[in-house]
Amino acid sequence: MKIAIASGKGGTGKTTIATNLALTLANAGTNVQLLDCDVEEPNCHIFLKPEIESATPVTVPIPKVIEEKCTGCGICAEVCEFSAIAVVKKKVLIFSELCHGCGACSLFCPEDAFIEVPREVGAIEKGYADGITFTQGLLNIGELMSPAVISEVKKSAGDPDVLIIDSPPGTSCPVIEAVKDAEFILLVTEPTPFGLNDLKLAVGMAKALNLPFAVAINRSDIGDDAVAEYCRRENIEIFLEIPNDRRIAEAYSRGEMVVRELPEYLETFKTCWDRIRAFSEKETSSKPDSDGTAKEA
Ligand code: SF4
Ligand code: SF4
Repeated sequence: MKIAIASGKGGTGKTTIATNLALTLANAGTNVQLLDCDVEEPNCHIFLKPEIESATPVTVPIPKVIEEKCTGCGICAEVCEFSAIAVVKKKVLIFSELCHGCGACSLFCPEDAFIEVPREVGAIEKGYADGITFTQGLLNIGELMSPAVISEVKKSAGDPDVLIIDSPPGTSCPVIEAVKDAEFILLVTEPTPFGLNDLKLAVGMAKALNLPFAVAINRSDIGDDAVAEYCRRENIEIFLEIPNDRRIAEAYSRGEMVVRELPEYLETFKTCWDRIRAFSEKETSSKPDSDGTAKEA
């Protein structure tokens, strides 16, 4: 099963939940893999402390002009949606940091004047920790192409019983790339006005992608009831509530795992997992077979 841990904004406890859920499952003997797709700021490794066994660069193809063929017509600059090309005095300038590698300039060039060259934008690292197979993506500083790195992280996934994806925060392209083929999304939030606002955005994203989801509320006993009230009104299930426990904050600040430092929380994460699995099984059984009939539960 492939589940994504996402949130409409950063700092809600997404990584805490992804890593502790992974460790809870691994402790129970489940074959689990964790992908850290928050490639601008991957920090699962701080808590898992994996032994990194391999690192591979991630490249994207960018265009390069064969000057002898170019007539300076300017069509490539006109078709580039990302303002990555300018043609000045018939000379083509390519701003490679802005290039998304879409290939439109090459496709529309009437002189076939482009070739593609690889440009390194980041790396993926693979390792292992405490029964968890781990992969993380790292976007190079100043680069914008996080979806390319996220895509490579996901391609590196094996075939575990449970795949957990720690997605980037927000609801923009990198998040879509991380969660789009998940079977379930756990949306992490906090019971504050900001948390509610960003949860609504994240719910909108999950609905637009037609993906099943539920909510996890971190520091559930601070703030107000507006998030719980919103979930009730919208018929959204809350699968996990983590209280504002000072000991959790202390463990986090030391880079320690909650379920290891405070074993009483193992049951909290296990219950969350049981709910995700039951929800998923229910979804699967209610989906029609190819002949249009519902599957037996
Ligand atoms: S479209 Fe081709 S020929 Fe025209 S300016 Fe661009 S590279 Fe040169
Ligand atoms: S590959 Fe796409 S994004 Fe890059 S320069 Fe060409 S048209 Fe622009």
